[in-house]
Amino acid sequence: MRYRSTSRKAPLTSLRGAVLRGLAPDGGLYMPAEIARHSAEELEEFRRLPFTEVCFRVVRPFATPDVPEETLWQVVSEAINFPVKLVSLSPGLHILELFHGPTLAFKDFGARFMARLMGYFVRGETRLLTVLVATSGDTGSAVAHGFLNVPGIRVVILYPSKRISEAQEKQFTTLGENITALEVAGTFDDCQRLVKQAFSDEGLNKRAFLTSANSINIGRLLPQMFYHLAAYRQLPVASVPLIVSVPSGNFGNLTAGIFAKRIGLPVAKYVASTNTNDVVPEYLRTGQFHPRAAQATYSNAMDVGNPNNFPRLLDLCRNRLEYVQKEIWGHRATDEETLQEMKAIHKRFGYIADPHTAVGVLGWEAYKLEHAGPAQGLVLATAHPAKFADIVIKAIGTAPPLPDRLAAYLKRSKLSLAISSSYDEFKQFLLAH
Ligand SMILES: *Cc1c(COP(=O)(O)O)cnc(C)c1O
Repeated sequence: MRYRSTSRKAPLTSLRGAVLRGLAPDGGLYMPAEIARHSAEELEEFRRLPFTEVCFRVVRPFATPDVPEETLWQVVSEAINFPVKLVSLSPGLHILELFHGPTLAFKDFGARFMARLMGYFVRGETRLLTVLVATSGDTGSAVAHGFLNVPGIRVVILYPSKRISEAQEKQFTTLGENITALEVAGTFDDCQRLVKQAFSDEGLNKRAFLTSANSINIGRLLPQMFYHLAAYRQLPVASVPLIVSVPSGNFGNLTAGIFAKRIGLPVAKYVASTNTNDVVPEYLRTGQFHPRAAQATYSNAMDVGNPNNFPRLLDLCRNRLEYVQKEIWGHRATDEETLQEMKAIHKRFGYIADPHTAVGVLGWEAYKLEHAGPAQGLVLATAHPAKFADIVIKAIGTAPPLPDRLAAYLKRSKLSLAISSSYDEFKQFLLAH
């Protein structure tokens, strides 16, 4: 498979080129040059084959000829080594739990796969690859765990001091090995600025081999098709149109859903479920796309004011509003609605949803209200409720059970290095280590 840029000015490149570069040289995002459909027979087979085999067959066309089949098999089987659980709350409402990986959020799929892929691509390189990530919480832990002990790569994570929860911080600052956490005296925006400045510093890039692991990397999106397949395998044979509600921030998850539909998955519509950071639902309603500063909400992993995968969504829909509207319906939820919904889900079904998942359920319910006719809803559950225990307590009055692996991290001591928000200090760190 060759990869092209959404801006269509950069030359085509290989998967290796697209993954190691992240952003295309013309500023666009990499897209597979074509997406082939699987036949109805093969899709039917996908219901019966072992899940690793299905993931392998789904990603193979995107990775050939860059990655030999044995390597790809190893990448898939090592990365996706945790279950995807489907919980049916009612005959028409299913929750797909994507949070059974090491950091209890769906970002484990993308980060673990991309880390192993990059590990393969840098084999034979004499220079150590440095992966830079700025995080406001969840990305840092998924990326740190994904790359832990991958040879030839070190990870430097920047996070804003005192602005993330202890559970989030402990998940990526206690690992050591090839993971360094820099605790920046500043905000998330400062962290992002430092990373951007490092990438645009030509002198630094001559002396250090840098790449990024944020959600614009195509290596994170490809494996996000896998769990859409996992849902298809577990759902009853679809006689009723399937509506998939995706709690969205940067829209990587929803983009991967549309990839999955393009390879043949029978999905009638995607719901872009957002919190009050609703630039995409607004675009779907008005045709106007107005990025703006993010607002803080309870579903903080979706606090994004300028979704970085939006150009990919447009590209998949031939840059036409009416095609985007054909694929996606949008819904926005306030914090108050989110809290009420968490309470209602718990009361009706005895199920504890995290705030992101609750935003997804609200999107499905709103869709159902506005669209008559038979439909079944699939809501992606993007995080384990224990990651957002304070909000769960606010909603239902009790704390969600704490999984052992999160409890174990809370006991470990943090190893981060404190730095100021000055670029010079950050650059000195990168060159000295
Ligand atoms: C990152 C994240 C999202 C948003 O996913 P996007 O692909 O950025 O739209 C939703 N929920 C949780 C818990 C997340 O960590």
